[in-house]
Amino acid sequence: MLSVAEALSFVLENARPKPPGEVPLAEASGLVLAEDVTSDIDSPPHDKSMVDGYAVLAADLADGRAKLSVLEEVTAGAVPTRKIIPGCCTRIMTGAPLPEGADAVVMVERTRARSDVVDIHDEHFRAGQNIMRRGKSLRRGDIVLHSGVELGPAEIGLLAEVGRARLHAIPPVQVAIVSSGNELVPADQQPATGQIRNANGPLLATAVRKAGATPHDLGIARDEVAELRKCFQAGLQSDVLVISGGVSAGVLDLVPAGLTELGVRQVFHKVNLKPGKPLWFGVAKNSTLVFGVPGNPLSSLVCFELFVKPAIARLAGRHWEPPQRTQPAKLTAEFRQRSDRPTYWPAVAIASAEGWLVEPKAWQGSADLRGFAGANALAIFPAGEKIYAAGDAVDVLLL
Ligand code: AMP
Ligand code: MG
Repeated sequence: MLSVAEALSFVLENARPKPPGEVPLAEASGLVLAEDVTSDIDSPPHDKSMVDGYAVLAADLADGRAKLSVLEEVTAGAVPTRKIIPGCCTRIMTGAPLPEGADAVVMVERTRARSDVVDIHDEHFRAGQNIMRRGKSLRRGDIVLHSGVELGPAEIGLLAEVGRARLHAIPPVQVAIVSSGNELVPADQQPATGQIRNANGPLLATAVRKAGATPHDLGIARDEVAELRKCFQAGLQSDVLVISGGVSAGVLDLVPAGLTELGVRQVFHKVNLKPGKPLWFGVAKNSTLVFGVPGNPLSSLVCFELFVKPAIARLAGRHWEPPQRTQPAKLTAEFRQRSDRPTYWPAVAIASAEGWLVEPKAWQGSADLRGFAGANALAIFPAGEKIYAAGDAVDVLLL
């Protein structure tokens, strides 16, 4: 059986970044930029005041004191009309263009105004204060963002500043989700005898969204060849297809055969981990990555975190290296590991002054969603039989 690391390398080998496309700025958050972006402006576009106050001639404030006549008032968006001459100043607001001649701004808190005269007393006055010169932040023609950066709030704001209402980026990764199983009913229905509600559809859609991709929940498919085939065909339109259930050794586990029949090439089936061992992975003719994850909700989420999430990151063009994702942490309580497979156990991880601490949750196994709720990490215990003491170090995967 493949190890988690081997299986992951097979997945990543088959996950190449999507081709870039044109994206409106309003839809670009979280995407990876696919061009070098050049500024079409100087920023600031003019010498500007950084405070509300008075634009002055530094020569008038030898000891930080002066009584000056106010020539006019300039608010942000307005244009000054008067040149500053000795003995005069202009009342100016934050962001407004500096009047000709001015070489400092005194903040309003250091002044007292009486009609069109202002008394200034600024103990720490120095020439040039409170002015941001034209082009100080960036100059027209500068490359302000390089291809490959992830677009967060600051980058999106900068793109708006330099006038990029549209840009080239790697488009969002589309992920189709099929929940297979004769026993499943939607969350808004009362299960009859033998039935359970579909937890995996909503669970996986949320995980997909959290991973920065776009989920398409195709709903429930019966364990029946024709119905599965129809759902798979629809799902293969996306970049990634995740099917939960039907990949183990039961008589109605029809997913692998159904996928192979549609030309999806199996890359591997089964990975040495707990929960999640029956994981199936293949690649369709159109390069859609197909994950058959086991039906138990925890198994499906562990498989998502370990394999689907990294694949999404790759398709989205993000830089992602496996070792960045696990973290050493100290156990806050004793833990008994007893399994022939490496185990991913739901846990609460807390960053403390002495590094990460981790508390494994009381958890009844891969069907126990309630025991998993509230976890923010998976604690990783190697295969074998071992009693870990409080304070022992283990690796954790932050969710
Ligand atoms: P399977 O992988 O199809 O053998 O399913 C394993 C277990 O997970 C069974 O107990 C199923 O009833 C359960 N299961 C399968 N699909 C779901 C689902 N969408 N939501 C909750 N439980 C599920
Ligand atoms: Mg099933």
